Formats: sequence, structure tokens, C-alpha cells
Amino acid sequence: MKMEQVSNNCYAVLNEKNRVCDANSGLINIGGGMVIDTQSDLPHAQAMINMFSRVWTGMPEKVVNTHEDSDHVYGNQLFGSAQIIGHRSLPERMKLVADPDEFQHMIDAAQSVTIGSQLKAAHPGVFAAAKQIAEDYEFRGVHLVPPSVLFDDRLKVVLDDVEVHIIHVGPCHQAGDSIVWLPRERVLFAGDVLFRLCTPMGWVGSFNKWYQALDMIINELKPDVIVPGHGPVCGLDGVHEMKSYLQYVEKESRIHFDDGRSASEAARRIDLGPYADWLCPERIYMNVERAYREFRSEPQDKPWDKPETFDEIYGVAITRGLTPTF
Ligand SMILES: [Zn+2]
Repeated sequence: MKMEQVSNNCYAVLNEKNRVCDANSGLINIGGGMVIDTQSDLPHAQAMINMFSRVWTGMPEKVVNTHEDSDHVYGNQLFGSAQIIGHRSLPERMKLVADPDEFQHMIDAAQSVTIGSQLKAAHPGVFAAAKQIAEDYEFRGVHLVPPSVLFDDRLKVVLDDVEVHIIHVGPCHQAGDSIVWLPRERVLFAGDVLFRLCTPMGWVGSFNKWYQALDMIINELKPDVIVPGHGPVCGLDGVHEMKSYLQYVEKESRIHFDDGRSASEAARRIDLGPYADWLCPERIYMNVERAYREFRSEPQDKPWDKPETFDEIYGVAITRGLTPTF
């Protein structure tokens, strides 16, 4: 974990391994302080607070959750009386997708001598994912603290004289996807609307909505610096690349769909092209499956069977001769 200053008043804390739980956080160190996203577990949240405390005094008065996923909200409880801001969908969505007990049980099962081998046999992907996550994270002691300040489309907050625009752009990666934009500093905290140098994962939403969000960043906001939800700090090149990736996967998926292949088969076959070097290329399965769901006109919020999804990602890795990474 490291901290980077990205503008006069903005900082990022980055988890360099850039795997599934390795989300980034942001800090704006004026006007009482605002933290963007609170990490995947309490030790990481505390480490982030310690890093940010080098450039702020006291605890921040505001926290923004860019969306409902566990890796962006599990540190909320460490921020005491801070206002927590998020899209109106977050309180309900967090209960649905970010149950800390569910994740801890998965890790405990994988670590258990007796249950671990059964889990490995039944769900090799779940087992491998749990083993990987347990290397860095543990969810004991986490309880969900939902945002207390909810907004629908946009919320403007002024820190001293610096405007911060929190804009709901979802659902593209998740229902609550919101970005945090500081026009004067030309900095964007993109949440998981942007994955950098790692394969994006989408849960709720559509390809078109995701393109719209990326186009808004490219054509309207034009930030100089972007802190993605996952991966290193970048500029607009990162946004262009991710849009190209999604377009490519959507196009390739259509070909395999029309040829009657399953999403699982397509995910094993699609040439990764220039994206083969991105971390966790096997996560392509989720993007193909989402494209298939759209081709079949299924609801955007159709729930994911998590064990099946982890197993499919694992299977894609094995077929491609990769060490499974989530
Ligand atoms: Zn994330």
C-alpha cells in the first residue's frame, strides 16, 4: 500500500497488487477532509488512515462510497461521526452484496483442514479465490455502516472554496456507481467505473451505460489525473483503453453468441489481444456473461451465483494455462 499526491489537495492510497480486493482510496485534505472509499477490511482501512494522517490533521468530516461493493465500504465504521455519502441505492445494495459474514465464512472454509478439501473438490474457484483473499484480508469485526447522506443524480459539496461534484453514473459496474470530480484540481476519483491494467468486472448494469460514463469522462470532464477504483493513477489514456476493452469483448461475445457457444466457452476462446497482459485476464468470463445476458434481454440486476462465477473464472484460467488470479 502506498500514498501518492495527485494534485494540490488530493491524494490516493493504492494497493499495488491490484487483485480483487485491492481497491484504492482517495483523500481531499481541505474543508474538514473527505475520504473516498474505505478499503476492504479494518487493517487496510486503518493503514490508509495512518497514511493519510501524514497530510491531514484529525479525522475527515466526510466519506464518499463510490458504490456498494465490500472493497469500498468495509472501513466505514472507523470514521466515527463523519458524514458518509453515497447513492440512494447503497444501503439496500450493501446488504445484498457486501455481507462480511459471507466472505469470512468463505475464507474460514478454505482454511479449514476438514471442510477445505471438500470445498476445493466442489468449488475449485471459490477455494482458490478464498485462499488468495486470505493472503491479505480478513473480514472479522467488520459491520456494515451504510451512507447516511444519500443522493440521486448529483451532489455538490464545497470544501473551503473547492467544489467537489459527486455524480451517479451507474449502473455500469454496480448499481450505485458514482464518480467524484474536482473541476478546479482537474482530478477524478472514478471508483470502479475505471479499472486500470487489470481486467474489469461488472455486476449490475449494461455495456452502453458503461460507455456513457466513460464518454462523459472523456468528452465532458476531461480530467488531468484519474484515480481508478483499481490499479495505478492514470490519465484519459486509461479511460480510452478500458472503453476499447469493453467494446472488444462485447463484439467478440456477439460472434460466439451467434455461433451458439456458451459464455463459458466464449470466455475460454476469445483472443485477449492487447489485454492479455492485464492482471486477472480470466475475469473476462464476467464481461462475456454480462454481454450474453444483454443479448438475451435479461434484467441488468439479475443476481450472480458467486460460487459458479468464481468456478468459471478459475476454469478460464486453467484452460488458458494461467495460474488463477482473482
Ligand atoms: Zn472494487
